[in-house]
Amino acid sequence: MKNELNKILASQPKYRLKQIIQAWFDVDKNSYEEITTLPLELREELKSFPWLTVKLHSIYKSKIDDTEKALLELADGNLIETVLMGRQNLKEDSEAGDRYTICISSQVGCAMNCSFCATGKTGFKRNLTAEEIIDQYRFWQRYVSPSYQEGVAFAMSSGRMGGVAEARQISNIVVMGQGEPLLNYDNLKQALNIILQNTEIGPTKITVSTCGIPKFMDKILEDKEFPQVRLAISLHSAIEETRKKIMPSHTSGFLEYLVEWAKKYSEVITSRSHFIGLEYLMLENFNDDEKHLKALKKLASNFSRVRINLIPYNDISTGKLKTTAREKIEHWHEELMKSSFVCTIRHSQGQDIAAACGQLCNKVLEK
Ligand code: SF4
Repeated sequence: MKNELNKILASQPKYRLKQIIQAWFDVDKNSYEEITTLPLELREELKSFPWLTVKLHSIYKSKIDDTEKALLELADGNLIETVLMGRQNLKEDSEAGDRYTICISSQVGCAMNCSFCATGKTGFKRNLTAEEIIDQYRFWQRYVSPSYQEGVAFAMSSGRMGGVAEARQISNIVVMGQGEPLLNYDNLKQALNIILQNTEIGPTKITVSTCGIPKFMDKILEDKEFPQVRLAISLHSAIEETRKKIMPSHTSGFLEYLVEWAKKYSEVITSRSHFIGLEYLMLENFNDDEKHLKALKKLASNFSRVRINLIPYNDISTGKLKTTAREKIEHWHEELMKSSFVCTIRHSQGQDIAAACGQLCNKVLEK
């Protein structure tokens, strides 16, 4: 954890850190002073330490769907983006409120330079600390809490806007924002473990998306402390030459490696509710012909539990790439389902606020 925090806690019993971390996740607490289980002296010392490592720079609300994007400022002035995506609660349980998925970042910028991604164009700046990863969750946790929303309503109007703010709940986390998560392995692992220990979110409700970094994929197989969250591999083509063209990080022989790795993964993670996600960005006249479909089916047939996610491309104004027509994406979907694969088409959210897949680039948008 934070070096400074470790210094402050050096002479304290071990359980103090646990008490502090538990308080971080209590939306009714907004400062160390409010952790009354801590000795007064320690609370005083902790005052020098930020309660949240991220500060809201700006927030954007989509006009077309229930998506919001936050641009967050870090202590060193760097900016990162994180997204809140609404998903109407399907259960007829009015108590449960609406369920939300948050998309969080793992790095400032990214070195992978995938050609379809705006973050890749900004280059890599640094890894996020475990706290900065956790604090994106804590930021949204507070943001969706009724007391925060009522506070905003109060601040924005001369009086309360009427009615009680709806209960909104973060039920899923996708680590699909800015950065390649596995290149920030230790901080990611620590952050996910802390989130899992301090929230009701279970490991299968968290998905980590990766370009596929063999060194760390192997490490996951052996690392008993890496949480059993879902992994999604950014595949985008089951043909090496095509994949290499849009993902400079692609290494020759990766697809064969992936098949072998997936076999070992299914031996390590035996739960039937676990599957490997294969993310496939659909690009017109690039990776969307019958040859590529056949290659995808062949590759995916080697996986024991797999879910293929077809993703319409979201324009990032490179002018070079275009999304595949909807009919063709549906044709792929149908074909893959006919071949007995679990397959979904991703519904892109927040396109009007550049919050959709591949569009995050820390640009301050006009409101
Ligand atoms: S898609 Fe992910 S890994 Fe690729 S450049 Fe963008 S943020 Fe990095």
